[in-house]
Amino acid sequence: DTEIYYDDDADSSHIDDETVAVLGYGSQGHAHAQNLADSGVDVIVGLREDSSSRAAAEDDGLRVATPVEAASEASIVSVLVPDTVQPSVYADIESELDAGDTLQFAHGFNVHYGQIEPADDVDVTMIAPKSPGHLVRRNYQSGEGTPGLLAVYQDATGNAKEQALAYGKAIGCTRAGVVETTFREETETDLFGEQAVLCGGVAELIKAGYETLVDAGYSPEMAYFECLNEMKLIVDLMYEGGLGAMWDSVSDTAEYGGLTRGEVVVDDHARENMQEVLEQVQNGEFAREWVTENQAGRPSYRQRRIAEKNHEIEDVGERLRDLFAWADETETEAESSEND
Ligand code: NDP
Ligand code: MG
Ligand code: MG
Repeated sequence: DTEIYYDDDADSSHIDDETVAVLGYGSQGHAHAQNLADSGVDVIVGLREDSSSRAAAEDDGLRVATPVEAASEASIVSVLVPDTVQPSVYADIESELDAGDTLQFAHGFNVHYGQIEPADDVDVTMIAPKSPGHLVRRNYQSGEGTPGLLAVYQDATGNAKEQALAYGKAIGCTRAGVVETTFREETETDLFGEQAVLCGGVAELIKAGYETLVDAGYSPEMAYFECLNEMKLIVDLMYEGGLGAMWDSVSDTAEYGGLTRGEVVVDDHARENMQEVLEQVQNGEFAREWVTENQAGRPSYRQRRIAEKNHEIEDVGERLRDLFAWADETETEAESSEND
């Protein structure tokens, strides 16, 4: 059975007297650092000398040093720089980790795929809030919490899980509930989810639906509303009450049509393709491709970004969002980042 941990399961004494170095002050970094500090934990933010985040961290009343200085002072090093730069930042701070120190992550990619290979004598843990950083901060301040995942990759001290729970409590995650998992499971499900369903799958489904309608002579505006704009309304229902709440709310015609035609679109072939995407996550092929792409300066990534930006649906949407009022109510989540 899945274990879920709450505030009562976490003992703050495992972190109360520690110094936590928070490397990075972006989406997750600013939230972890401030929540930890507000929970009474000694925090030092690690940023490079010319960091554009330095002023923000200082304005928030936090001590700022270089990653190396911060790691040298701390017993817990929370690695919250972007996943693609973590290996090089880790190489700089590696020698500052003493036996019994903790390396703490919010995503398992680098450890799971061997891009970071921690020494045997440090604890390696993960507390991964299931939300962008600005919500981790906002929920903490409002007294609510943010659900999260906990994993222990390496327990050198025998105390790794207890300390990770205390970290989770200090950033507000155990208020909402923390689910235990492994670095492998967190990494592979996260990558598969964003590729096949959440980001990749949904974007392609939207574009394919849009193009099908426009190619058949329907107006781009209608296609935009049907295939993109209404997506939020449907997803909100699923978020609140699962698929059932969605099926209950739509018309019987929509329900019957959806139940019979959905599987025509996402057919056995689409499921085989999903299987292949999952295999490339599991066997490390995707990870190797992404690491190589970054080492090469992201040529293919850049090209695909431009192509996506230039898709006609983006122009149509921009025009429509200017004309209609719903855009004013939509909160822009600028802090949520592509690195999730
Ligand atoms: P961000 O992209 O927001 O991190 C940016 C911060 O990292 C900035 O302070 C930036 O400062 C600093 N930084 C960038 N490059 C370097 C470098 N070479 N050396 C030192 N500092 C650097 O990261 P996220 O918060 O999105 O991600 C952090 C971790 O959290 C990742 O492991 C991610 O997978 C995980 N995560 C993210 C979620 C999210 O919603 N964003 C959700 C759950 C987990 P500078 O001005 O110096 O560039
Ligand atoms: Mg994710
Ligand atoms: Mg992700």
